[in-house]
Formats: sequence, structure tokens, C-alpha cells
Amino acid sequence: LLTLRAATVRFDGRTVLDAVDLDVAEHEIVCVLGPSGSGKSTLLRAVAGLQPLDSGRVLLDGRDQAAVPVHRRGVGLMFQDHQLFPQRDVAGNVAFGLRMHGMAKNERAARVGELLDLVGLPGAERRAVASLSGGEQQRVALARALAPRPRLLMLDEPLGQLDRSLRERLVVELRELFGRLGTTVLAVTHDQGEAFALADRVVVMRNGRIAQTGTPLEVWQHPADAFVARFLGFEN
Ligand code: ATP
Ligand code: MG
Repeated sequence: LLTLRAATVRFDGRTVLDAVDLDVAEHEIVCVLGPSGSGKSTLLRAVAGLQPLDSGRVLLDGRDQAAVPVHRRGVGLMFQDHQLFPQRDVAGNVAFGLRMHGMAKNERAARVGELLDLVGLPGAERRAVASLSGGEQQRVALARALAPRPRLLMLDEPLGQLDRSLRERLVVELRELFGRLGTTVLAVTHDQGEAFALADRVVVMRNGRIAQTGTPLEVWQHPADAFVARFLGFEN
């Protein structure tokens, strides 16, 4: 589904994404791990079309995306700080992308209802965003990202602001949800436990490069180098 070839991004002469090659298959859930500043968010933004590449290519279904604008890529992106619109109610937030896609009003309302059921917030349409807990807000942000039925959903620290017990519960729900919808997912997280519970495959980044990719078990049992081992918390 997604292919990156030698994808490179520089800021002020500093290489933040360094010739990254990555393939994500249809229905795969891939989690990107790595220290702060290693280029995880930049990678997602580049795939979404929010960050132009200095060189290299992003392909979806084998088609180069260089000339394809953000809203035509069929990808959904949930940002690190979920950025809900505080002045709109829950339904207004979830329907945001649907209006941009030109969906009729009654159809939008039906879709919003489905999505809120899906993320475990049935009947929350008219609630004010400010009245929701952090976990509920993250579910609304997820519903908004899922609304246009993206083939590829990208999540940047989707559970970042939640406490551990809620994260653990949501990770299980999310994995089940993505399986049911057949959504391909590229998710960034700081949290190894989360990545290992959610992902079919993990990608460990370091200084804009991919230090290792493999199933969670492979990476855990056979870290590719001292950096990955240290990042996973091994002492050697
Ligand atoms: P975190 O885990 O803290 O979110 P990250 O892995 O997502 O980190 P990025 O946001 O991709 O890291 O940033 C990678 C590097 O690029 C950082 O050093 C950051 O300061 C730099 N960077 C990101 N965006 C810009 C920008 N618009 N202009 C200049 N530098 C930037
Ligand atoms: Mg980031």
C-alpha cells in the first residue's frame, strides 16, 4: 500500500529524515518507535503530504504522490496533540472532514453516529468538547480521523495524554477495531509496551534513519544493534 524510497527531509541543512525506505502492506499495523527528535512525526507528515520531501519518493499503491494534494491521498492523520476544535461540539468535530469531502448533511449525521458507536461514545454528538475527559477527547479525535474511511490511518502518539490503564485498554480496543475495519495503520508512539501490543511490525528510528524493523518479538529478542538494545532498556 505505502512505499517510501530514499525519503529525505532537511531543515536548515540538518537531515531529519535520511533516505528512509519503508513498505507498509495493506491491513498491516506498523508502529514507529524512537527517541524524541528522531523524525517520527516528520515521517508521518511526509506521507500525508504536509511535509514536502527534499529528495526520494512516497508511493501509495505504486503511484508517486509528489503531485497529489493532501486531501486526495486517502490517508487520515491524527496529530500528536489531537487538535479538536473547541468551539464545535463532538459531531461538528467528527464531521469536519466529511464536509470537506462534500458529503450530504443527513449522510454525515449517519456516519458520525456510526463512528461514535465504533469508538465507544454512542450518543455523544451534542456534547461540548470541553466537557469530555482526555480519553474521550482522544476517541473523538480518532473518530474524526476515521471518518473519511482512510485506507491508511496515521496516528501520532494517539494515546499520548492518557494514563497507563486507559492506554492499555484502548490499545486492545484499537487493535480489534482496525482489524474489523481492515484499516492499514502507521502509528507513532514513545511507549514500547503500546507498540508491542498494537503492532504487527515495529520500526525503530534513530537520527532520521530506520535502525531496525521487524515483528515486535523479533526486535525484542534480537535487537539489531546496541542502540536498539539500549532503547528497549537492555543494559549491554
Ligand atoms: P517527538 O518524539 O519529540 O515527537 P519526533 O521523532 O516526532 O520527536 P520530529 O518532530 O519528526 O521528531 O522532528 C525531528 C527533528 O526535526 C527535530 O530535531 C525537530 O526539531 C526538527 N524539526 C521538525 N519540524 C521542523 C520544522 N518545521 N523546522 C525545523 N526543524 C524541524
Ligand atoms: Mg513527534
